[in-house]
Amino acid sequence: MAKKHKGPAIGIDLGTTYSCVAVWQDQNNTAEIIHNDQGNRITPSFVAFTNDQRLIGDAAKNQAASNPANTVFDAKRLIGRKFSDSVIQNDMELWPFKVVSGFDDKPEIIVKYKGEEKRLCAEEISSMVLTKMREIAEKFLESPVKNAVVTVPAYFNDSQRKATKDAGVIAGLNVMRIINEPTAAGLAYGLQKRESNIGKRNVFIFDLGGGTFDVSLLTLKGDSFDVKATSGDTHLGGEDFDNRMVHHLVKEFRRKNKVDLSGNARALRRLKTACERAKRTLSYDTEATIGIDAIYEGVDFHLLVTRAKFEQLNRDLFEKCLEIVKNCLANAKMDKNIVDDVVLVGGSSRIPKVQQLLQDFFMGKDLYNSINPDEAVAYGAAVQAALLCDGIKNVPNLVLQDVTPLSLGTSIYDDIMDVVIPKNTSIPIRKKQEYVTCYDDQSSVNIDVYEGERMVAIENNLLGLFNLKVRRAPRGLPIQVCFSIDADGILNVSAEEESSGNKKNITITNENGRLTSEEIERMIQEAEHFKAEDMKHVKKVRAMNALDDYLYDMRKVMKDDSVASKLTSVDKVRINSAMIKGKKLIDDNQPKETYVFVDFLRELKNTFDSALNKFK
Ligand code: AMP
Repeated sequence: MAKKHKGPAIGIDLGTTYSCVAVWQDQNNTAEIIHNDQGNRITPSFVAFTNDQRLIGDAAKNQAASNPANTVFDAKRLIGRKFSDSVIQNDMELWPFKVVSGFDDKPEIIVKYKGEEKRLCAEEISSMVLTKMREIAEKFLESPVKNAVVTVPAYFNDSQRKATKDAGVIAGLNVMRIINEPTAAGLAYGLQKRESNIGKRNVFIFDLGGGTFDVSLLTLKGDSFDVKATSGDTHLGGEDFDNRMVHHLVKEFRRKNKVDLSGNARALRRLKTACERAKRTLSYDTEATIGIDAIYEGVDFHLLVTRAKFEQLNRDLFEKCLEIVKNCLANAKMDKNIVDDVVLVGGSSRIPKVQQLLQDFFMGKDLYNSINPDEAVAYGAAVQAALLCDGIKNVPNLVLQDVTPLSLGTSIYDDIMDVVIPKNTSIPIRKKQEYVTCYDDQSSVNIDVYEGERMVAIENNLLGLFNLKVRRAPRGLPIQVCFSIDADGILNVSAEEESSGNKKNITITNENGRLTSEEIERMIQEAEHFKAEDMKHVKKVRAMNALDDYLYDMRKVMKDDSVASKLTSVDKVRINSAMIKGKKLIDDNQPKETYVFVDFLRELKNTFDSALNKFK
């Protein structure tokens, strides 16, 4: 099959807490993880808004405690969900930023940017993170990048996948493919093992990240990678473990100091950051101290957390992970005895208790931890990106067969879910199902499309509904409904009534909370606007720095007697007062345009040069 795209193409792991970008390097026959401007291989999925700029990544996370209400994270937990979703209602309690219900129950995040209130949806925040990852890659490759493969949790539903794709479009990316995170990690594992000619192998991928948990069972044989089953929870990960610790410590602090932190966003943000750090310490040490000076009302925070306490606080969540592992094996109809490797992926898979539970379940089997759990997903995505492009050399010719995580169907009779495509069916797939009208002279039929495993349709997730006009006829008139899932795992439904020779094709319209093409267009324009504003800010900072550097050099020269002694006293006074003015210009917080600094620097240079020229 001809490849549609031309390189360069990147793989982006768009994580709840951190994101990672990689690119295939044909000179080295491998995918390379790209460092960001801070030299880090992973970038926080944080976006912040201030009075004069927008920040993304490390810069946003680093200022989170001082600007909690305008520092947005966890967009992946919001994306593709309704505001009324209980998951969002619960998470909101711990988010320092404000989330409100927008049109059609779509969550909107409210921030203050340059003194004005802005409403943003999760797709826009994610698009900003994607833009950052793209820029990191462009800097490294020294060329523009348009094509990308973006990963999503295997257990993401249709709305969450579509919303992620929309985020890519807003970021100006051509999202060639959406692939599942554990499958991408499977590719990374497979490439590592390829050299050793391993034959057929059943591989269990355990991917516990910052916000989501996914497991997949793959069978690898030569160059073919077949996903047999997948399972997961789109709301289970490191963030939940941190939150448990935060809740516990807020209670402890209240008990000891009679001070309640729970309403203070800044204190909670500082505590959350400290808890995340302590959690990491507890992965190699048995206790960790959390110390935060003057956390609230001048009281210092100083508490010790033991690994045992951390494990106790999260016990049910760790056990939930194990239930999902069992469920995946059952879906694949595979006994745990014939799993060859259990591969650890995602930062939270480093937690010793999680590893121990998993190892016990697999009867003492060594867990495979030779791939970097933070980077494997981006690595696999970069391989997939290279595979989809023309002209990229030395890419192994892998064939990937993924599955759909949730059953898809329609509601029939008294709200029974009629499954058209069962979960864990290989994708892409196209399946037709025939339905018939229920009444004589029926003029239209309603088709509701659901995803989920419950037998009662309304207990599942309603993806959309449509109404198809049909020829009036006695009951039993056949209607053909076609479900197709593309390689991104995204569903399209159409229906037709052929009997009169009058074919009608209808695609799903009333999609849950999906952005319209007009909204996406508006967001693309806004993204351009944000970019232009960012550039404006960068130029201003550069101009300020140039002035600051020049003032620094001048100060040094003025201290040098061999120079200063030769200047006239009038020139000395003029130069000194210009230097004081320049310093004031930089230090004072009044908003100023870039040209103010550029013009001042030019004038200053002229004053200085003409004074020096006099004594040459
Ligand atoms: P990921 O989404 O794969 O980037 O995973 C990020 C999550 O992994 C965050 O919640 C981190 O706090 C967590 N994490 C990273 N390193 C460790 C560690 N050594 N121990 C426990 N959790 C970790």
